Amino acid sequence: MLDAEFFRRWMTATAASVDREAERLTALDSPIGDADHGSNLHRGFTAVVAALEKEPPGTPGGVLTLAGRQLISTVGGASGPLYGTLLRRTGKALGDAGEVSAEQLAEALRAGVDAVMTLGGAAPGDKTMIDALVPAVDALGESFTAARTAAEEGAVATTPLQARKGRASYLGERSIGHQDPGATSAALLIAGLTEAAG
Ligand code: ADP
Ligand code: MG
Ligand code: MG
Repeated sequence: MLDAEFFRRWMTATAASVDREAERLTALDSPIGDADHGSNLHRGFTAVVAALEKEPPGTPGGVLTLAGRQLISTVGGASGPLYGTLLRRTGKALGDAGEVSAEQLAEALRAGVDAVMTLGGAAPGDKTMIDALVPAVDALGESFTAARTAAEEGAVATTPLQARKGRASYLGERSIGHQDPGATSAALLIAGLTEAAG
């Protein structure tokens, strides 16, 4: 079973990898965006870690809803409301249980990803974070490691796609040939699960 401490470790591990990879995320956002994805998420996850340290929530759902709120209020870019919605909706789906199973997490994350698709209007293949998140959720029933691999492969597979949502879509065919920054950061988020499970 996964308790609030596991979910805090998940957010802390994600914050650490976003910190490590911030320059790369911003570099990916340079040819097909406005070169701020790394700094956007770094600001957001720094606020998440600070909020979780200040008032550690006692439930998995509480950790994710607090994290989601922080991302929405601190990240100016498109990714803030989208990641914020992902975590808030996932947290809401977990309810007020003190511990949840990996199956419950998989189901809740599915609801979170659905909420991101509703909010942003992106479907798989549109070259967004959805291209890492959907395969990850599909593989989560198997294991965290399988989800991580699926997310990483999903991110790499955005390279030949033409963007149909977000800033990169303004480039039309010129968005082809670049890996999507949001799909890349989504793979970091999913990789955080394997680190939290440690
Ligand atoms: P901004 O584009 O406002 O500068 P970021 O650079 O932080 O925001 O985030 C860009 C990422 O957000 C993209 O790489 C893409 O993965 C994701 N994204 C943008 N629009 C959408 C959308 N409508 N649905 C899902 N993801 C999106
Ligand atoms: Mg950007
Ligand atoms: Mg921006």
